[in-house]
Amino acid sequence: MCQPPAVALSLTLSVLAESPTASAALVVPHSPVGEHTDLAAVREFARHCDVVTFDHEHVPADVLAALEADGIPLHPSPAALVHAQDKLAMRRRLTELGLPCPRWAQARTAQEVEEFAAQVGWPIVVKAPRGGYDGKGVQVCRSLAEVEPWLSGVGEAGLVDGLLLEEAVDFTRELAVMVARSPSGQAAAWPVAQTVQTDGVCTEVLVPAPDLDEDLAVAAVEGALRIAGELGVTGVMAMELFEVAGPSGAGTADGSAGSAYLVNELAMRPHNSGHWTIDGSVTSQFEQHLRAVLDLPLGDPSTRAPWTVMGNVLGGEHPDLYPTYRHLMARDPGLKIHLYGKGVRPGRKLGHVTVFGGDGSAGSLAELRERARHAADYLQGVIDE
Ligand code: ADP
Repeated sequence: MCQPPAVALSLTLSVLAESPTASAALVVPHSPVGEHTDLAAVREFARHCDVVTFDHEHVPADVLAALEADGIPLHPSPAALVHAQDKLAMRRRLTELGLPCPRWAQARTAQEVEEFAAQVGWPIVVKAPRGGYDGKGVQVCRSLAEVEPWLSGVGEAGLVDGLLLEEAVDFTRELAVMVARSPSGQAAAWPVAQTVQTDGVCTEVLVPAPDLDEDLAVAAVEGALRIAGELGVTGVMAMELFEVAGPSGAGTADGSAGSAYLVNELAMRPHNSGHWTIDGSVTSQFEQHLRAVLDLPLGDPSTRAPWTVMGNVLGGEHPDLYPTYRHLMARDPGLKIHLYGKGVRPGRKLGHVTVFGGDGSAGSLAELRERARHAADYLQGVIDE
């Protein structure tokens, strides 16, 4: 999705693609096929690049270290990226910086799990520090018996340093802050978004987060910008967070005020919670990422309308979604459809729809949500009219 702004700016992208039919390889002419874990392939690819950036977090540390030693400009740098690759590293650093996090612990043994659960109470949330996405690698556990299978995996892939344990946060909703930061230190932020998850997968994003306390919005954006600055992030960064009511007992940002936030996790790349920016913002996260990693001045992150609603399109029964276009486009000319050229698998994120407009009222937001919901359901084959 970086390709449209790259075309507009006449920048040449290359992608190290996992296969010739990978979504990015279908639209970027120079897309050699290779594994991101294969040092020789990554090195050969990077040799031809002015700047290397990432669209996922899974490039191993030794590969990144070798590129850095070769003098390849990497944005974000491996030192920053580790906080998006490793949730234990992220929790440790954010805690040092005094940013509000759920209570957490690192555990390798049943005794350590018991000790943490005794502090925060069951249930607890168990996470694989590395390699998780879309809720895979996250489990709410109600007893030690449910944690046992995790403990037996300690030392293996994703659990090399043990488990990340967190208190189960009783959040009122989930929010996301997208920011961008350039190597020169210029930074920009989009408004705080509300993300709605269904079965651990984000299904809807509302911008700005409706009825968000202004002080909390400012605190969350300041927190994200501070993280980006302290960690030396370059490019776009997403901070996912939980909104919690009142003092949660978890060491929250602003003590006893009506609501506060806790940081869930970080991503250092264009992120699903920022897809709304393609249609809903003056500068999309993809254009902003290109500007940031090239150290160009950043673009205006203002919204185009009082409300923007993004609905994710997940794989359903139908292998071909094109036949849905005629009905949807006729029904709703303001609807924007984005499909990523991925093969259909049930539950897989295949694309998204965006609508924007309204007058800032709750009623106009409800109408936009209904339009986005209808379109996503129709594309997925959940409804047929
Ligand atoms: P992933 O890296 O797979 O996206 P996350 O850490 O974002 O995993 O967790 C996925 C979802 O699980 C979150 O969006 C949230 O709904 C829930 N979750 C994660 N951590 C906690 C927690 N400490 N307390 C309550 N719910 C949580």
